[in-house]
Amino acid sequence: MFIHFKQKNYIAMQFIFPFSQILTMRGLALKGALKDNQLEIITNGAILIHNNIIIEVDTYEKLLPKAKKLSAEFVILEQDFVLTAGLIDSHTHLCYAGSRAGDFAKRLEGKPYLDIAKEGGGILYSVEKTREATELELKNSLINRAKRHFNEGITTCEVKSGYGLNVKDELKMLYAIQKANQELSIDLISTCLAAHTIPKEFLGKSNEYLEMLSNELLPIVQKENLSKRIDIFVEDTAFNIKEAKKYIQYAQKLGFEITIHADQFHPEASILAVEVKALSADHLEASTEKEIKILANSDTVATLLPGACLGLGIMMPPARKLLDNGACVAIATDWNPGSAPMGDLLAQTSILGTYQKLTMAELWAGITFRGAKALNINDIGKIQMGFKADLLAFPTNDFREILYAQGKLKPEIIWKNGVLHII
Ligand SMILES: [Zn+2]
Repeated sequence: MFIHFKQKNYIAMQFIFPFSQILTMRGLALKGALKDNQLEIITNGAILIHNNIIIEVDTYEKLLPKAKKLSAEFVILEQDFVLTAGLIDSHTHLCYAGSRAGDFAKRLEGKPYLDIAKEGGGILYSVEKTREATELELKNSLINRAKRHFNEGITTCEVKSGYGLNVKDELKMLYAIQKANQELSIDLISTCLAAHTIPKEFLGKSNEYLEMLSNELLPIVQKENLSKRIDIFVEDTAFNIKEAKKYIQYAQKLGFEITIHADQFHPEASILAVEVKALSADHLEASTEKEIKILANSDTVATLLPGACLGLGIMMPPARKLLDNGACVAIATDWNPGSAPMGDLLAQTSILGTYQKLTMAELWAGITFRGAKALNINDIGKIQMGFKADLLAFPTNDFREILYAQGKLKPEIIWKNGVLHII
């Protein structure tokens, strides 16, 4: 399909060209609405990377002299490609065992998600299956899903625990994520979501459960360096605002970063997210004007999960209003065995855009640098000097084709940390 390579092994300095377009995402605001005419698009572009870092991006003509001077290896593409930053999926539950196709069938019969959860389906079913699985089984199934995600252009992916719901099985999940990460090209960012819901053993004793997590689990997670992020599901079937706040503040004292499953079915939790300076408030389908304004005036990222709306048949979150009010909106898949089994970030981003009338600039921002902000990582999500060489080449000459194709146009070449992968 392309390429002249002088050597196949690791190359220190690479000059890769020509790209029909390079969508850099440079110079765009971290928050608020964006217009497509704000996007920097370099035609007949080229990129210079050194090891895993972007040295420079510009037109082929402008970069050629520098590439020669630096004796870069030339990587020449022989068909049309658009270059974008690697995609960032800032909210997933990729580590799990068991299928929830049964829940899906019940939902199709008209039963609401929360009713299925109350009957012992929902998250607790995944908990049962995940507790039965070995760490190796969890790691292997996670690796399979993460490889698929990587092949679809996701170069950084958050993965939550939350189907163990006791010290032993939460640790098992976090170890599975840590070990999978060591074997994969994609970067997995783990989050401890032991406060996903109340396990059977603690029914009616949610406060005691959170205290147990605080005293017994979090210190080990920290000591073993299994995650630096804590998540909690604030909702009727899970934890209330008051107990969540106490748990979060304890976690913060230990040094954990915070993210919250907020406003999925009822509002208010996103206000807590802002109050505790969480990195992100995720879901927001039920956010009202009040939550939207508070989020927009904060540094907390509003992470939207269209895949969960598709899975549950509920309204899309108020993306347009969030952006118009000035919020930082990230878009993620929420890939999980229950409400969001699809896990296709490009398809879901395109669909969210259709329903909420987001511009391509806003959509691309949501799955690149604004997603990076939700993960508190500041050197991914843009094609610019000093950023990681996490790059995607799509077989087209017009970047607009990518979201237009609603997920069917995938990258054919991926550079992860500067290392080339042909998909
Ligand atoms: Zn989730």
